[in-house]
Amino acid sequence: MPLSAARSVKVALRAAGLVALVVFAMALSDALRVGGALPWTRVVALASVVGAIAFSIRRHRDAVRVLEFQHERDVQAREAAAKFAGIMAIAADAIVVIDSSHRIMHFNHGAESIFGYSAAEAEGQPLSRLLPDRFREVHGHHVAEFDQSPDTARRMGHRRAVSGLRKDGTEFPAEAAISKLDLPGLRRIYTVVLRDITDRKRIEDADRFLSNTSTGLTRTLDPVAVAEAIRSAAVPTLADACFVDLLADSGAVVRTAHAADARTLSTLRTLAEEHPVNRNGDSPFAKALRGEHPDIVTGIDEAWLDSYGGTQDARDLWSALDLTAMLTVPLVVGDRVVGGLTLLDRGKRADRFDSDMRRVIEEFARSAAMALDNARLYTTARRATNARDEVLSVVSHDLRNPIGAIAMCARMLRDSPPASEDERQRMLQAITDATAWMQRLIRDLLDVTSIDAGHLSLDRQPSSLSSLVMTAAGMLSSAVEERAIDLQIAVADSLPTLMVDDRRIVQVIANLLGNAIKFSEQGSRVTISAALTADGVVTTVKDAGIGIEPDVQARIFNRFWQVKPTPGRGNGLGLAIAHAIVHAHGGRIWVESDPGRGSTFAFSLPYAEANN
Ligand code: ADP
Repeated sequence: MPLSAARSVKVALRAAGLVALVVFAMALSDALRVGGALPWTRVVALASVVGAIAFSIRRHRDAVRVLEFQHERDVQAREAAAKFAGIMAIAADAIVVIDSSHRIMHFNHGAESIFGYSAAEAEGQPLSRLLPDRFREVHGHHVAEFDQSPDTARRMGHRRAVSGLRKDGTEFPAEAAISKLDLPGLRRIYTVVLRDITDRKRIEDADRFLSNTSTGLTRTLDPVAVAEAIRSAAVPTLADACFVDLLADSGAVVRTAHAADARTLSTLRTLAEEHPVNRNGDSPFAKALRGEHPDIVTGIDEAWLDSYGGTQDARDLWSALDLTAMLTVPLVVGDRVVGGLTLLDRGKRADRFDSDMRRVIEEFARSAAMALDNARLYTTARRATNARDEVLSVVSHDLRNPIGAIAMCARMLRDSPPASEDERQRMLQAITDATAWMQRLIRDLLDVTSIDAGHLSLDRQPSSLSSLVMTAAGMLSSAVEERAIDLQIAVADSLPTLMVDDRRIVQVIANLLGNAIKFSEQGSRVTISAALTADGVVTTVKDAGIGIEPDVQARIFNRFWQVKPTPGRGNGLGLAIAHAIVHAHGGRIWVESDPGRGSTFAFSLPYAEANN
């Protein structure tokens, strides 16, 4: 009965009571006035009517009190429900109420935005739909065990993060708690409160990653090992693959790659080897090597390939990588750029390199650059110490012979000059040869010192390769004549003009030709040729001399290295210097040899450089 109706009944009953009292009073006075005796039956009847009315009034008063109390309780319950609904609605956490058969009864707004299902989609579904497959069974056991336990609430996952499964199939780390509540009618419901901790976990992971890598990167002072540590730290935590570009002292860019899968790695390596970075270009890699922070590239599309793809071959390789995002950052120490780091990703997340991730990458790039610079400084210092030791040993050892020869010839010419003019001329020639030998040694040592200090400066001029070859051949004409070498030169004038340091390239060719003559039989053939290849302009010096055993070919370009040290026949520096000169020009040098049948030395000068 509504409260207002109850109140009307109460008023009506009071009025009825009043009317009964008046009737009773009137009956009494009527009886007294007539002077007759009061008929007891009427009095009793009237009294019972009055009593009944009074009793009813009390009953109704009690009923109204109960109704008022129930109304109060309803209002409170509605307020509590409204408060609960409000909390459910605004909570960022997912609040999911499930029934005893683990079916979802309530799915709040937070749950909708975390899991991606609407409440209508989720309600009625089993809770297990919100969990990755592999956790479903064990989760069921945990809830059953919680059901039996005396606890009314507990954290899920026992201190570890649990995993949630979104509608789009992606997993996310979460923290969750569960509580149980028994309702009237032996019904039990459970409430699961779950928080998506993806962002927090990312920050924690990033902090852990940065502290681990900064220690990892300083574990070695070998630049090659540091670059390797950078590559393996970056992949797969920061991206699916990466390029590390290092700026060598000579200015050349040394590019290495790393990828989580072998196919991508092989494509990246082909790109790195066959399509070197053009430092002067406008690509993100070139920009980073100039210390700039290029924009994130989202996908390698036609427009990108048109701008930076290069040849069709390179474009195909880039397309095959199927990248969705690429970020290049400079590796800088102070105001010095030591290289660039390019992170390549194929994932579906559009915000792979969002601002949080970029902060981590920038921090990582700082540690990487610092580690590289430390390794470089250490290597330079060690190389300088080694070079000093080598120079000291060469000076003390190799100069002793020519100085001894000069001293002996000069003493003889002064104290007991030979009577024969020929003999005197032979001694004077010995002095001249020894002086030339010492001069060459000093020049080579100075070159080596400059290379070590990174001061091998190049004075590049437009030059014709054929004229450089002719100059070098002219310098060795007396040796060619003396050993009756059949020198063939096949260098076309039509080759493109090169931008090289003439003096240095002549030095390389003269060294290779000198060795070819030196290590060939009297009268044998030596051929110098040149051709335009994919590698650039390749110059070849081929002899039919003693050749070089395969196991020592790899060491042939090391300094002070000779197959058979022969005093007066070289110092083992020529090829090391030639190697440094060719690399400073951005080319490479190599040897192919058949022991006993001859050697072919070749070096390339990049075609792109040649065209500049
Ligand atoms: P050097 O000739 O002054 O000893 P290089 O650095 O020019 O120094 O050469 C290093 C060594 O490489 C030589 O001592 C020789 O053992 C080997 N070598 C170089 N060129 C040839 C060649 N054309 N044929 C055989 N061996 C060679």
